[in-house]
Amino acid sequence: MRLLLVEDERRMAELLHQGLEEEGYRVTVAMDGHSGLGMGRSSEFDLILLDVMLPGIDGFEVARRLRRHGIRTPVLMLTARDAAPDIVRGLDLGADDYLTKPFSFEVLLARIRALLRRGPAPQPARLQAGDLHLDPATHEVFLGGRKLSLTRTEFILLEFLMRRAGQVAPRDTLIEAVWGHARDIESNTLDAFIRRLRTKVEDVSGRRWIHTVRGVGYTLREDAAE
Ligand code: CA
Repeated sequence: MRLLLVEDERRMAELLHQGLEEEGYRVTVAMDGHSGLGMGRSSEFDLILLDVMLPGIDGFEVARRLRRHGIRTPVLMLTARDAAPDIVRGLDLGADDYLTKPFSFEVLLARIRALLRRGPAPQPARLQAGDLHLDPATHEVFLGGRKLSLTRTEFILLEFLMRRAGQVAPRDTLIEAVWGHARDIESNTLDAFIRRLRTKVEDVSGRRWIHTVRGVGYTLREDAAE
């Protein structure tokens, strides 16, 4: 099994390199973001261990660019920061798992084994409704060839509605998809986000896409131009 280790701290890189090779892995080390990205794209690795804080481009950007280029190699992020937004950001950008420094070597080995068992992530299918296209891998949305600029929340809402195009998405289900179980949000928060999403999509197309089903939720369906 071949591992790519992207880590700029020399001592950390050496320790991990040696420890992992003793476990039978073949390890290649990249010391900065650019070389990590280059090696990750050009060579065949079974897994990438990716530090977040790197010179050049950081680990988030490396993960994002790898996924944009269709590289599906599992990525385990090594983050010195355990702040939830960092972890969420890493996972959103295409990392498969994360480990917060300092970590135990045994835990690292267990995570590596788990990711190797799973193998490369399947390419998520692009979604299409009429001339509206959404790519879950790159987080891009195109409408009639024009790229839409959506916030993270708007993107999640649109993806959810597109996966159930033609069906009604109940309000509770939408709220849970975006904000999770625990989050107490005002009922009209969902409506405010839907309104903004609607404006962005419908201003471009001049057609109605997101329809309110009164008392139930929302549904995505393209209406004919007026
Ligand atoms: Ca670092």
